[in-house]
Amino acid sequence: MRTQVAIIGAGPAGLLLSHLLHLNGIEAIVLESRTQAEIEATIRAGVLEQGTMDILNNAGVGARMQAEGALHHGIELAFGGQRHRIDLTELTGKAITVYPQHEVIKDLVAARLAAQGQLLFEVSGVQLHGVDTTTPSVAFVHRGEAARIEADFVIGCDGYHGVARPAMPGQGRQDFKRDYGFGWFGVLVESAPSSDELIYARHERGFALVSTRTPTVQRLYFQCDPADHVDNWSDDRIWAELHARLENDDGWRVNEGRIFQKNIIGMRSFVSTPMQSGRLFLAGDAAHIVPPTGAKGMNLAVSDVALLAQGLEQFYRRGSEERLQGYTAAALKRVWRAEYFSWWMTSLLHTFADATPFQREVQRAELECVVGSRAMATALAENYVGAF
Ligand SMILES: Cc1cc2nc3c(=O)[nH]c(=O)nc-3n(C[C@H](O)[C@H](O)[C@H](O)COP(=O)(O)OP(=O)(O)OC[C@H]3O[C@@H](n4cnc5c(N)ncnc54)[C@H](O)[C@@H]3O)c2cc1C
Repeated sequence: MRTQVAIIGAGPAGLLLSHLLHLNGIEAIVLESRTQAEIEATIRAGVLEQGTMDILNNAGVGARMQAEGALHHGIELAFGGQRHRIDLTELTGKAITVYPQHEVIKDLVAARLAAQGQLLFEVSGVQLHGVDTTTPSVAFVHRGEAARIEADFVIGCDGYHGVARPAMPGQGRQDFKRDYGFGWFGVLVESAPSSDELIYARHERGFALVSTRTPTVQRLYFQCDPADHVDNWSDDRIWAELHARLENDDGWRVNEGRIFQKNIIGMRSFVSTPMQSGRLFLAGDAAHIVPPTGAKGMNLAVSDVALLAQGLEQFYRRGSEERLQGYTAAALKRVWRAEYFSWWMTSLLHTFADATPFQREVQRAELECVVGSRAMATALAENYVGAF
């Protein structure tokens, strides 16, 4: 097989990139290890910045997002028994949209299939070859048959555990990591939303988040030991923990409902640089991870591939590699801002096992400054909506 761009991974990054390339008349083949049904059912992110919405709308895949997504003009910070609203729109003129990542995936898959795009599901044994030449290739197995794609470029959109990053030449690489030592216990619940806006709660027992996915499905999280196991948590124990952490003085309570999914995710920050070597480029979680506190992961995946699409368009239309050469520098500017914000939100809202009483008081004082100072609230709001 021969194509212009071989893309590994059909997450938001890989699917959107293949669609943006298609709109520019550039051929791509996407290789995905899971089934279509699996990628369309993986419930993950849900907060879209305005810039992400603009990219999806301009690519012609935003109709359902506009119809079904929920525009949020604020978030709430809860601590000390009280809730405090951060008015995102009043402070920044912008808002965020809650529209689940798996719905974005469905929209992108539908658009790719409608355009006869090449999406190969259930591939295995993906191996990259010749990425430091102008004729890279990808070997893999599909439907029991060994196959190979010859391409001009290979783009690794295969997430944190994929094969593309390990295939990067080791020389000159630098990885930046922070492991927070705690995780998030996430549940999906069948119920009406408990709140019109997301609630980020800091409590002595640990952080909790009231988020939403659709009018009938809610996403709730609470800070936990990353080595804990979901089997240790009965539904009753989960609700008791959520009520304890989210309780406040005005009698508001989180809505209970049938819990139909439980999972634990570790909290880490990670950046691998450079995001390119020869004809191999990384985008999205393959190159960087943020703790979900800042709701930036999917937004970064989208902004990476928007940059890559521009670079590839310039290459094929004008024969210039200038934008592609500048990809790492351009992407990292935004990546590091998101890393900073996600780290800051995480530090502000979680309990740390090694925190001294002094550090706990400073954390509480910082939260009071954020909700009491327009300047600090604006800084949070600008970062949250991706205003700069
Ligand atoms: C529980 C959770 C909650 C989150 N909440 C938010 C949020 O609120 N807001 C936000 O912006 N972000 C959030 N994120 C992060 C967001 O989901 C990710 O940043 C986003 O999925 C990254 O997209 P991606 O396309 O780079 O990678 P992925 O979505 O990980 O896609 C990679 C794809 O590559 C495939 N793949 C992997 N290896 C191979 C291989 N060897 N061969 C072929 N295919 C392969 C995988 O099957 C997968 O489909 C959350 C993440 C999690 C886990």
